Formats: sequence, structure tokens, C-alpha cells
Amino acid sequence: KLYNQVQDLKGSIRVYCRVRPFLPGQCNYLSTVDHIEEGAITINTLAKNGKGRKSFNFNKVFGPSATQEEVFSDTQPLVRSVLDGYNVCIFAYGQTGSGKTFTMTGPKDLTEHSQGVNYRALSDLFLLSEQRKDTFCYDVSVQMIEIYNEQVRDLLNTDGLNKRYPFQSYFLPRVLNDIMLKDPLLGNTLEIRNSSQTGLSVPDASLVHVSSKSDVIDLMNIGQRNRVVGATALNDRSSRSHSCLTVHVQGRDLTSGNILRGCMHLVDLAGSERVDKSEVTGDRLKEAQHINRSLSALGDVIASLAQKSSHVPYRNSKLTQLLQDSLGGQAKTLMFVHISPEPDAVGETISTLKFAERVA
Ligand code: ADP
Ligand code: MG
Repeated sequence: KLYNQVQDLKGSIRVYCRVRPFLPGQCNYLSTVDHIEEGAITINTLAKNGKGRKSFNFNKVFGPSATQEEVFSDTQPLVRSVLDGYNVCIFAYGQTGSGKTFTMTGPKDLTEHSQGVNYRALSDLFLLSEQRKDTFCYDVSVQMIEIYNEQVRDLLNTDGLNKRYPFQSYFLPRVLNDIMLKDPLLGNTLEIRNSSQTGLSVPDASLVHVSSKSDVIDLMNIGQRNRVVGATALNDRSSRSHSCLTVHVQGRDLTSGNILRGCMHLVDLAGSERVDKSEVTGDRLKEAQHINRSLSALGDVIASLAQKSSHVPYRNSKLTQLLQDSLGGQAKTLMFVHISPEPDAVGETISTLKFAERVA
């Protein structure tokens, strides 16, 4: 009974934990994961004074052998609700190297089998909309943006890139008067405006219509390439920026003519590792401070939604402003928290799990 009440309080926020397997060459390591149950994970904290164990509860825990398919099958109902007009947010949280990008996108050498949530979610939306084609007519468009040092950048921006796109229709950013050019390296910095009229939080980011799985693959490649282009001078920025693939769905009921709108944000968050302030300076320190601030702002928002608090502090970061319409209310939220099994990551693993427990 009590458990149910607690579940009700938590509304529509789910937290899944995923443990990365050891990487090739790490076969002799001892895992910090002591054991896993359906909804709980126990960590060996490697305390010097004996055997420290600490357990954490989540809606679901995926062990190191869980496949991409298994992970997606638990995510699918959430994804599908977008076609019913719900707003959905799916996050990947964890320290750099813990498997966030693997879950959301997949490994570098991507195969059909290893595709992550992003690809599977979109193919599933196409599949389901095809099944519903006698009753609904759906339109699916996507945006891809990155938040780096509290600046929003369009990953599908065509500036300086090959402008030939394989899509049937490509809507370039509209009137660009809200764009401020800050740094040519970073591309255009966009405003978050949460327009209730269009349902777009970043109306000036390129919005691309997609109608097949291959459109999506092409698109993700473009986004990925843009991320890399921006990263050369700053060196692997991907672990220090949040990237967000937003899927906008519009469905017309063929009998009533009513339109419903749903939106799904798929977010690969910046690495959550704490950097030692005494060791970093300059740009690196600034990045770290932005990341810390935005991840704690996200934690604060989700925690206050879970507690049904009357004030939800959305304004404290670009990330939470961006997601405002898709966090809370009728929206559904899923956070994947990732942990690495290596003993030397145990400190980060515990702080990741503590962060997640706060919102779970
Ligand atoms: P992050 O995005 O959190 O920095 P990555 O997703 O890049 O981490 O993962 C780090 C490395 O571990 C990559 O080489 C990735 O392919 C691999 N990896 C992560 N999760 C898994 C998994 N579940 N199974 C196999 N390899 C994984
Ligand atoms: Mg990554």
C-alpha cells in the first residue's frame, strides 16, 4: 500500500539503471557491482574497512549483458505514447565512458543489431503510424541541437556544410533575427522560446521532415558530423555538451479532423563526473561549472516534480528551459542512469546512483 502511494507520488518519472560490461581487455577486473535484481542494484563500495555494500532501487536495472533490443522493449510503450499526443523525455545520465551514447545511439561501428534507442524509437514510430494509417495521418519532423556552455547550437544547421539533403522537405531555420553569432566555431547560438503556438522550444533550429528509417540514419549522420566539426578545436566536446534529438509528431484524426501533437526529447547528457577544481582552470573549469550547474538544475526539476512541489525551477538552466513543456504535467519522463563497472570508477558510480535515487 505504502509502496503504491509512493509510486503515485512519483507520477510519470521512471528511472532505469544500466551497467556497462567490461570493455575488451578488461577481463581480469573485479566489478563494483555486487549483484543485480529486477529493480535493485547493490554496489560493493570497496570501503577500506571491510565490505561496504550499498543498494539502490530503480524501476528497472539492466545488467552488463542486456541487449539493445531488451532495453528498447521496456522503452517502447513510452515512445509509442507520443503518437497519442503525449510529451516524452528520455535522458541518458552518467559519467563519461559509462555507455550513454551506446544506449541512445549505439557504438561507433553501428549495425542494425546494435542500434540504440534513437533509431529504434523512430523506426517504431514509423511502424506504428503505418499500422494506424486508416485512422490517423501522422507527420514526423526532427530537430537536433547541442547545449554547450549554456549555448544552444543547431546540429542540423546547413551553414558551411553540404547543403544537399536527401529529404523530401527540409525547412531551413526561419527568420534568423533571434540568432546571435557568438563564436564561429560554435556556429549559431539559438534562443529557447517555448512557443506554445508551434510547440517548438527552439523555433529557429532546423526542422526536418522524416518519413523513413533511412531518412533518420542520414540525419543522425549529419548531426554527428556537425558535432565533430564543432569539436575539432575544443577536442571531444561530445562528453561536455548535452545533445538532444527532438521528435515532433503531428497526427490528424481522419474521421474528426482533430489534430494532436506529441513531442519526444531524446537527450544524451554531458558526462556527470565531477572535476577536481584544483586541477582545472580556464575553459575546462568553465565547462565543468556549466555542466555541474545544468545537471543539478535537471535533478532539482525532476525531484520537485516527483515531490509535486508547487514551484518547479525550470529557469535555472538552458536544458530545463528547453525541456520545460515535456517535463511535468502530462509528460512522461525516463532517465537511464549508466554506471561503469570498474573499481576505479566506484566514487562516480556511487554519486551517479545517489543522483538517480533522488529523482527515482
Ligand atoms: P558515454 O557516451 O557515456 O561517454 P559510450 O557510450 O561512448 O559512453 O561508451 C563507452 C564505450 O563503451 C564505447 O566504446 C561503447 O561502445 C562501449 N559500451 C558502452 N555500453 C556498452 C554496452 N552496453 N555493451 C557493449 N559496449 C558498450
Ligand atoms: Mg557519449
